[in-house]
Amino acid sequence: MSFIPKTGSFEGMKSLNKSAIMNLIRLQGPISRAEIAKLTKLTPPTVGSIVSELLEADFIKEETGFAKSQGGRKPIMLTLNSTNYFIIGIYGSAEVITTVISNLDGEIIYSKDKEVWNTPSEEEFLTMLKECIQDTLDENDLLHSSIIGIGVAMHGLVDPVNGIAIFAPHLNLSNIPIKNTLEDEFSIPVLMENDVRALTLAESWYGKGKDVSDFICISVGRGIGSGIVLNHKIYNGAYNSAGEIGHTIVDVNGPRCKCGNYGCLEAFSSEAAVLERVKRGIRLGRDSILAAEINEDNRWDIEMIFRAAEKGDQLALESLEESGRYLGLAIANFINIFTPSKVILEGKLFDAGDLILSPIRTMVERSTLKSSPGPEAIECSTLGKKGMAVGACTLVLRSLFKPGGF
Ligand SMILES: [Zn+2]
Repeated sequence: MSFIPKTGSFEGMKSLNKSAIMNLIRLQGPISRAEIAKLTKLTPPTVGSIVSELLEADFIKEETGFAKSQGGRKPIMLTLNSTNYFIIGIYGSAEVITTVISNLDGEIIYSKDKEVWNTPSEEEFLTMLKECIQDTLDENDLLHSSIIGIGVAMHGLVDPVNGIAIFAPHLNLSNIPIKNTLEDEFSIPVLMENDVRALTLAESWYGKGKDVSDFICISVGRGIGSGIVLNHKIYNGAYNSAGEIGHTIVDVNGPRCKCGNYGCLEAFSSEAAVLERVKRGIRLGRDSILAAEINEDNRWDIEMIFRAAEKGDQLALESLEESGRYLGLAIANFINIFTPSKVILEGKLFDAGDLILSPIRTMVERSTLKSSPGPEAIECSTLGKKGMAVGACTLVLRSLFKPGGF
């Protein structure tokens, strides 16, 4: 499906000149037609005609500027009209489907979480995605024609070209035709990426990776993944699976990972690994204020570990520290290979602050070469838990403003 919105006046919206002008207005608006011509090196008549089309389509708006003008008349300035068009972004994790709406500035104006049923079938999962989108359209009273596109950030292995979730490990589903299903249902173009790569894109546009040419973004949750940005471009690898830091082996004698190997980072440092280490300690007779809670139910939350650690619980502290050490080791290996100028960390685990960040930084300090960035290059994401969904929206925004670009 074409990414050109269906309304007649948008025909050809994706043309490179239109995108370039819109992107300039997005980044530098309010900006005059003359400045646009100067910066894009397009002729003033070309700029004038494209600007007229964009105005007619309500993509941009005019306002009287305050800039000095040689003729004495105040120049007419152009800004993005971000109130008429929207993007729907979806983050498909194994536990929750987060649906958001963003405007053209990438600001989230609506967000809703829906719990995923236990082990849904492919059809049930697709039905949930459709319901999430339909609910979002209904609840916000949005015109179908005002939605530029739907972005999907999906956990696991994703084929972004065909929009297929090749393998969603936490749902144990394969080859889910998400793009085709949603496009058939809603007649709105759909773009899809792996969740961490979508997050990495969001970091690059709106987060800690803005204007950073080389960085890695590591997400720790139920699994551990990463996005790699090299020279302002996300690196996908030959099989769209680059960045699987969670399955790099940090101890050949380590515990079994869900992937079947032994000693993967994920088996040491995921949220589940932190919880499991505490449970194991209690089973082995270690003293912990969490011991009383271990039999009550299985819905353990990582925040319970944080609270115990804050109260000085040794077992909780040790579990966080060990996770941090292994994460630090994997990050140091990553740094030695890619020498990024920044490492961005995302995930609830990092809410533990220095309890997890200190061991990471110590390991990075100890294990990276002198020519590499030091531990000060490690920062936490500020996009919050909606980062993946923001990334899903950014996939569509990128297609609109920078087709083929980053
Ligand atoms: Zn593994």
